[in-house]
Amino acid sequence: MKKQEISSLKTLLNSPKKIVIVPHKNPDGDAIGSTLGLLHYLLKYNHDACIIAPNDYPEFLKWLPNEHAILKYDTQTEASNSIINQAEIIFTLDFNALNRTGEMEAILKQSKALKIMIDHHQQPDDYALYTYSDVNMSSTCEMVYNFIDFLDDVAKIDANIATCLYTGIMTDTGSFRFKSTTSTTHLIIADLITKGAQNAQIHNAIYDTNSFNRLQLLGCALSNLKMLPEYNTAYITLSQNELNSFDYKKGDTEGFVNYALSLKHIIFAAIFIEDQQQNIIKISLRSKGEFSVNEFSRLHFSGGGHTNAAGGKSDLNLSETIEKFISILPSYKTALNNE
Ligand code: 5GP
Ligand code: MN
Repeated sequence: MKKQEISSLKTLLNSPKKIVIVPHKNPDGDAIGSTLGLLHYLLKYNHDACIIAPNDYPEFLKWLPNEHAILKYDTQTEASNSIINQAEIIFTLDFNALNRTGEMEAILKQSKALKIMIDHHQQPDDYALYTYSDVNMSSTCEMVYNFIDFLDDVAKIDANIATCLYTGIMTDTGSFRFKSTTSTTHLIIADLITKGAQNAQIHNAIYDTNSFNRLQLLGCALSNLKMLPEYNTAYITLSQNELNSFDYKKGDTEGFVNYALSLKHIIFAAIFIEDQQQNIIKISLRSKGEFSVNEFSRLHFSGGGHTNAAGGKSDLNLSETIEKFISILPSYKTALNNE
């Protein structure tokens, strides 16, 4: 952010304001961690601040400090609309385009509140007065740490803020192993531990609280794993019936696609998950190296994200979606054999 912008933001946030913080639809660890981290910070300045998420998030995030105070737009629409209509400032975190908030898009577009974007996704839209966008950042949580630093307030980071930011950095970096993890990320993580983030407890709460059904569903996903060696590609499918038979809960399939990417020689991995309620196939794409799943998803599956991690959707049925996916691969044969 420019010096001038930082000093205007300091002035703006110096007196209590009505503030709403919004993550993307189907919020993940980084979306919930960054919004909660920022919330705890803003509350220190007596702002009238709250988080409104487009919809619910996985159970494994439901221990973060103050998470119970998050409003969900899909089930608390009226209350949310009224808060948004009164807001003076809206922070949008961990997404690059208002349509990433689903049903909330209309009211956010209509709102006259001053908007501030903090995000690390590619090709950010230009809807915010203040845009802090950096695609090289590991996570929005790392950016919220920087944002607090820009405001000269790192000393104000307490154990609650540290816990939330640690969680999002950890989940978005695959526990500090993706390329986006820099030495600065580790320095920030070290500082967050110093400030009270209980790292072992956080890892345990996120990764070691599986239900029996979730592990059985993973077994099912792995038995559906297919390899396309010619394209160094692997993919997994999960039908609605399969999800139902293991009592699928939101978040249960988080990370499954990484098993496909962990295969030797595989540089492109996908998981296709049937969602009969929305009548779509939800797609997660992952890659290693230069192959951009952001571009791939934008072009073929109405989605986007980052170079090595993106999401998208298909309106075809599951088998037609797979057919489409396989039919596209030949045009990427060179790129997929270049790593
Ligand atoms: P995931 O596959 O874990 O849902 O998402 C991977 C990355 O892509 C995340 O950064 C997420 O925010 C982004 N993403 C997921 N689904 C979509 C989508 O439908 N559209 C766009 N633009 N980004 C998505
Ligand atoms: Mn993120």
